[in-house]
Amino acid sequence: MLDLAIIGGGPAGLTAGMYATRGGLKKVNMYEKGMPGGQITKSSEIENYPGISKVVTGMELMESWPEQCMKFGLKHEMKEVTKVSANSDGTFKIFIAGSEEVDSKSVIICTGSNPRRAGFEGEDKFFGKGVSTCATCDGFFYKGKEVAVLGGGDTALEEASYLSNICSKVYLIHRRDTFRASPATVKRIENTKNIELVLNSKIQKVYGNELGVEGVITIDKDGKERDLKVPGIFVFVGMNVNNNVIKQNDGSFLCDVNESGEILVDLSMKTSKAGLFAAGDIRVKAPKQVVCAAGDGATAGIGAISYVDSLGD
Ligand SMILES: Cc1cc2nc3c(=O)[nH]c(=O)nc-3n(C[C@H](O)[C@H](O)[C@H](O)COP(=O)(O)OP(=O)(O)OC[C@H]3O[C@@H](n4cnc5c(N)ncnc54)[C@H](O)[C@@H]3O)c2cc1C
Repeated sequence: MLDLAIIGGGPAGLTAGMYATRGGLKKVNMYEKGMPGGQITKSSEIENYPGISKVVTGMELMESWPEQCMKFGLKHEMKEVTKVSANSDGTFKIFIAGSEEVDSKSVIICTGSNPRRAGFEGEDKFFGKGVSTCATCDGFFYKGKEVAVLGGGDTALEEASYLSNICSKVYLIHRRDTFRASPATVKRIENTKNIELVLNSKIQKVYGNELGVEGVITIDKDGKERDLKVPGIFVFVGMNVNNNVIKQNDGSFLCDVNESGEILVDLSMKTSKAGLFAAGDIRVKAPKQVVCAAGDGATAGIGAISYVDSLGD
């Protein structure tokens, strides 16, 4: 029986493991299907992690984390978890691909999320080289330049607004002529001088060279093309949260989630199920930043120690 099983080995999972083991839990396994580090390892630049003052790649940022986080006894199992379910005695069963099963007194879900791709030509080729899904992460690299934003929901409009404070101009491309975002946000966008709405339009392709994006071709509902010469395009067409592991055989979830499938937690990262915690991008209202995921992981790790202690021997 494990004291704690951590599912996912990104910034949240690694930090949760470090806090839990350094704080005294003995049997702690972190299940990460790949190499530890998480989605930030796919980023070519990060400059907003406190304490790291130069711009580094995501891989460079995460390089030293596994060694530090595992030196207090955290064990990395390079395995994919298929399901977590509740045993009748209040403990949990971790189902691992390949039919292995492990019991644990507590669990922290840190499986993260993935921004949805829009599917236009050049999106994958230029991802990280001008195509981005995070204005907070990458907006600053386009300071004083023109950029484009794709999407019509609250996130797209909030991010367009954020970018309008940094960039000289923002083209907001949306396939309809009305937005799904809240009316107050729409009004704010319409009143922002350096945001131009490109409505009833979708992106046909993004083009560029080996250094990155040089422009975006849009096409409207009448088939009219437009060439926007921007070095950056921000895509906000939704997120897929990796919550499959808490899905039960009857389709229900092991704990409460919201309509987007994000796990509901309190300020201690506790879910609605005793002994089950969630941290990082998978949880509701996550700012989706490395520093925040790490902070969540620390909070959840501390919470797991208290929970396991409260069970006694
Ligand atoms: C291109 C890009 C650029 C970014 N730039 C920045 C930036 O500049 N600054 C910033 O602060 N943030 C940035 N982010 C966001 C940041 O990467 C995330 O907020 C952060 O990584 C979230 O950490 P996490 O631990 O919650 O999840 P993740 O990093 O997504 O880690 C989740 C881990 O769980 C594993 N996993 C999932 N399901 C299973 C399973 N069933 N079994 C086993 N393992 C599983 C995955 O393999 C993954 O390693 C960027 C993200 C991307 C994609």
